[in-house]
Amino acid sequence: MSTSLVHSDDALRITEIFYSLQGEARTVGLPTVFVRLTGCPLRCVYCDTEYAFSGGELQHRDDVMAKVASYQPRYVTVTGGEPLAQPNCLPLLTALCDAGYEVSLETGGAMPLADVDPRVVKVVDLKTPASGEMARNDYANMALLQAHDQVKFVICDREDYEWARFKLDEYQLASRVSDILFSPSHGQLSGRELAEWVLADNLPVRMQLQLHKILWNDEPGH
Ligand code: SF4
Repeated sequence: MSTSLVHSDDALRITEIFYSLQGEARTVGLPTVFVRLTGCPLRCVYCDTEYAFSGGELQHRDDVMAKVASYQPRYVTVTGGEPLAQPNCLPLLTALCDAGYEVSLETGGAMPLADVDPRVVKVVDLKTPASGEMARNDYANMALLQAHDQVKFVICDREDYEWARFKLDEYQLASRVSDILFSPSHGQLSGRELAEWVLADNLPVRMQLQLHKILWNDEPGH
């Protein structure tokens, strides 16, 4: 590893770059390149990407862009870990937008969103009580949401569901973002139970199951 790359403003620590079907959110099912950045300051109890907490490989932004381009995608998702934990994520997002891709960012609610390129669709995962990381949510981010953004709640139990309902009202999310996503926490709450709660309360949310877990059983690289 060259010293210049370690200290470069263009260096990113990358866990993996791969081409798959988007597993969730509004573009579910569409072929997408995923850029998974290494590292996360949180430790949610249900985390399914612990392999991205450490390791990875330092790569120059130009090399990341070249790898993404090799798939000739329309959609690119930058994810983690927590991608915004690396400051160099911000210029990567802008470079991806400049290259003409439809770019989304999967981020938790803990990192500031103010400097994210406004062309990026932010998918913000607000941490519920049962995640163990609710105290890390930065609610100043709620004022920064744009109409094309999405807010996601991973629901572990009924208490999480009621908490999420309260947040919908508190921040008037249904009228401010394009999609509110309710996902059952894998192995903790059945999709059917969550679906029945959503229907009983007539909530304006998109209940979703994670396609990549159904298709590939959550193997890395998919
Ligand atoms: S924020 Fe995401 S990557 Fe980080 S611990 Fe929570 S679920 Fe895992």
